Amino acid sequence: MIKEARLTINMDSLAHNYNTLRSKINPDTTLIAVVKANGYGNDGARIAQELSKLGATYFAVAYAKEGKILREAGIKNPLMVFYPQLEQLEQIIEYLLEPVLYNLEISNAFISLLKEKNIKNYPVHIKCNTGLNRIGFSLENLDSFFKKVNTPLIHIKSVYSHLGFSENPKPCAFTKKQFDTFELIKSRVKELCTSPPKFHILNSSGVFNYPEHQLDAVRIGIALYGFANNPEWNKSLRPIAKLSAPICQIHFIKKGESVGYNQGWIATKESRIGIIPLGHADGIGRQYGNSVGKVNVLGQTVTIIGNVCMDMLMIDLTSVDCPLGTEAIIFDQKFTASDFTASANTISYEILTSLSPRIQRVYI
Ligand SMILES: *Cc1c(COP(=O)(O)O)cnc(C)c1O
Repeated sequence: MIKEARLTINMDSLAHNYNTLRSKINPDTTLIAVVKANGYGNDGARIAQELSKLGATYFAVAYAKEGKILREAGIKNPLMVFYPQLEQLEQIIEYLLEPVLYNLEISNAFISLLKEKNIKNYPVHIKCNTGLNRIGFSLENLDSFFKKVNTPLIHIKSVYSHLGFSENPKPCAFTKKQFDTFELIKSRVKELCTSPPKFHILNSSGVFNYPEHQLDAVRIGIALYGFANNPEWNKSLRPIAKLSAPICQIHFIKKGESVGYNQGWIATKESRIGIIPLGHADGIGRQYGNSVGKVNVLGQTVTIIGNVCMDMLMIDLTSVDCPLGTEAIIFDQKFTASDFTASANTISYEILTSLSPRIQRVYI
């Protein structure tokens, strides 16, 4: 019997995913374990410690603060920061994090700081834009980067790019163009660099869709947590997290009565409804309300009714005979976060990373 909402994280499943992914890539390809956004909601420090025990040697986060948390949790491995911001550069050096340089402004600021501190050979990575058009140097301004910024103060460990549509079935003209552009970048970088860096371009679905492009490293996030953005690829992985909560109140509602704010749901017949202590403040957004999201109670699928409140949501229990305190499963290994989010037209990434810290994490 569970007594409050909780996210149960299965460390055996994490190990299964890590080992499965490790076996899909070449022994000499580095697996960069992406533990940004608090380890996709699962607790970044805890996940990184476990992955480190399993043999992971390289980690990545989005922002410097996340790197600091991992360092404080005892993670000593190289740690990339994908999207360092100007305010975070001091922190990057303080915690020996490896920044990704993605434009001239951030590169110049970082190099000035190294000069000021008299630091040489600091490990950095270079991000290139091959079509996602988010951040990074494009092929056209790579030369000016190397002309202006390449100094003995930095050591360029890797040059990488990011796919925009890695889960799209092959052949995909857009992705092919990204790979082709990255090949041009690779040749140019090899000409410009005295000691050639490592190259990488694949994320989780990329590893499944394009194993032949794994190069020197792959950056794996969501697949460690059990998803690969395709039902077929998902089969080899195990979702590591289960979100569940006890039904903490049951009401009998007469036909015509309403449930929740703004009379979001009106009973068309005598009904039995259950209240669950999870709301939009916990990361279950309002888009799941009004009969969009489904949860699982004693093996039966029931509907979220009315508007999701800040701390609570309501389900229609009319067809399920269950006592107060029964566990309602929002998602688990069978009824996955991917299934749950599909109902509201979003993706597993979003719900996992939105789960608020007030949800108790339990590790098994
Ligand atoms: C988040 C991120 C990844 C991991 O992507 P997944 O799809 O979760 O594997 C890889 N590379 C970059 C640059 C990212 O921002």
